[in-house]
Amino acid sequence: MKCAANGSGTRCSSAATTVCARCEAVAYCSLSHRIAHWSHHKTECDRLQQQMESLAVLNDFPFTFSRQATIQVCANQETRCSFLSKRGLHRVGMWMCECLCGASSSSFDLLGLNNGWDLPSALCPCRGPEALVSERLCSWRDYFKWRSIQFDSPVALLLHWPLTIYHAAQLVGITTLNLEVSDKLHIHYLGPEKELLQLAVFGELQALFPGVHIHIELVGPAIPPQRSDALLTTHCSVI
Ligand SMILES: [Zn+2]
Ligand SMILES: [Zn+2]
Ligand SMILES: [Zn+2]
Ligand SMILES: [Zn+2]
Repeated sequence: MKCAANGSGTRCSSAATTVCARCEAVAYCSLSHRIAHWSHHKTECDRLQQQMESLAVLNDFPFTFSRQATIQVCANQETRCSFLSKRGLHRVGMWMCECLCGASSSSFDLLGLNNGWDLPSALCPCRGPEALVSERLCSWRDYFKWRSIQFDSPVALLLHWPLTIYHAAQLVGITTLNLEVSDKLHIHYLGPEKELLQLAVFGELQALFPGVHIHIELVGPAIPPQRSDALLTTHCSVI
């Protein structure tokens, strides 16, 4: 890497040996060039610092694509559309709302009750679990391992809806271990929007809470009024 001071009023072709102490995203040949470049760099240092911090968060996720995809997005090489296209998911079924161009052309009037994952079985939880969930799942890694899903699968983009419910249930003390207390889980889900086209993902709650009757009531302005009756009966039978 070459010294970043080159070009902005300074000529330098030396190799970089030190980085900006704040953002650690820009490198210089020497302390004096780091100081000389500060008046130019300070306008972008905060933004770069934030981006570098979010990279650290991404390292905690087990997915093979998250860090790579984010760097490519920052470098404008990858968009949500191209990310989905590469996986054959662009403007397909439940994935329709995962990019802006798909979201703008989809309609909540067509509820996604019949949408599947549109992925090979190694990449999605389309079958029942091989084993009952035996312990608390505490991370995406736990979940992917339990469900035998490859870490390069993009399903986490959609599965965060049911897994957030699972996590919330854990926080209030509902676990599969104490569900003998009640065999019904009644969830009131407020303000769904694009989830309405992705209702099939909530079927994963059945794997997370085996043997429990799960009833989800979706409440919010995005639910088409002419569909609200149908929704209440159909979504219960889906789950
Ligand atoms: Zn330099
Ligand atoms: Zn900086
Ligand atoms: Zn798109
Ligand atoms: Zn209800």
